[in-house]
Amino acid sequence: MTVHHSMASLAGGYTKLSFNKRTKKYHGQCPFCHSVAEVFCVDNKNGTFWCYSCGKHGTIEDFRIQMGLECPEPEPEPEDAGIMGIYEAAAAYYYRCLTGRMDMRAYSYITKERGLDEDTIADFGIGYAPHGGGNQSLYRHLRQKFDDLAIFRSGLIKRGRYGIYDMFRNRIMFPILNRNGRVVAFGGRCLGDKGPKYLNSTESRIFNKHTLLYGFQTAAEASKTEDTLLVCEGYMDLIALQTHGVSNSAAVLGTALTKEHAALIRCFYRRVRLALDSDKPGLQAMARSIPVLENAGLKVDTISFSPAKDPDEFFRMYGKKALKARTSEGADPSVTAVRASSEPEAELVRQLIKHLNAQSGQGGRTERAG
Ligand SMILES: [Zn+2]
Repeated sequence: MTVHHSMASLAGGYTKLSFNKRTKKYHGQCPFCHSVAEVFCVDNKNGTFWCYSCGKHGTIEDFRIQMGLECPEPEPEPEDAGIMGIYEAAAAYYYRCLTGRMDMRAYSYITKERGLDEDTIADFGIGYAPHGGGNQSLYRHLRQKFDDLAIFRSGLIKRGRYGIYDMFRNRIMFPILNRNGRVVAFGGRCLGDKGPKYLNSTESRIFNKHTLLYGFQTAAEASKTEDTLLVCEGYMDLIALQTHGVSNSAAVLGTALTKEHAALIRCFYRRVRLALDSDKPGLQAMARSIPVLENAGLKVDTISFSPAKDPDEFFRMYGKKALKARTSEGADPSVTAVRASSEPEAELVRQLIKHLNAQSGQGGRTERAG
């Protein structure tokens, strides 16, 4: 099992620390006043630090703030806050449609097929966008509280050739939150065979999938005790991970990791473990993400849930403890393969595939000390 020396590992990213067996504390040069003497001290057990020279001291939180790592979510402009209000009303409506069993197929898809219980549905605010009501179910609901101008600005309701219609219909709805816990977008998974399998809200001033990670508000909290962020793909994988005790996880929304993602992660974590799908698009995203993360000073490795196809299946096969253990250890060689190669992307992908095949063939994986 990996032990997370969180205060020391955080501070250790800025100054070289050595453990003193007698004092049971870490000592090093101060990352704030850059003292030559080893006047900086970390008590990992209490999660505190102090400097005998400049006097800076505090908790992990204080260290982040003093290092300028806090990355607060900016307060929204009044107009944007208004749109978030509409999204929140829509999320509440979708949630009631699902849990009120307006559509039994939607309800049994999420509870039986995906195995989510009522608590999980509530935790993630999962909902259902109905397709009856002349394609205007949400519109009718929103009109009771909001004016048309605001409603159309939200993008949830569209005007088309055949009149006004709800953007999301017959879909399982996943509210996407920013780090202040405000709803800034939706992801909708299709239940029928009409339209794309996944549909996200269109990008706006408050929603940019190149800067936002699904589930990150929980992951930010978890960074107090964990130093590695697990990055997966998609809503269901993230829900499976966080529900089964892996709170230090977040999901990309159909993109590779960008330098904005990397900067956000760097505020909270020192390592990233990529748990992207091992199909071709997943491997390509992995090959693109690794150098971006490394440039931001993050240590990167990968993880596979083999022989399961994803975290949820892994959990069903082996249980919570095994999932926690698997996610706590990474495998380096695929990263090395990517880094060592200067060939074009296709070659990186071939190497990754080769490596992953070799890995599943061996049945054993490299275990690393945290
Ligand atoms: Zn100092």
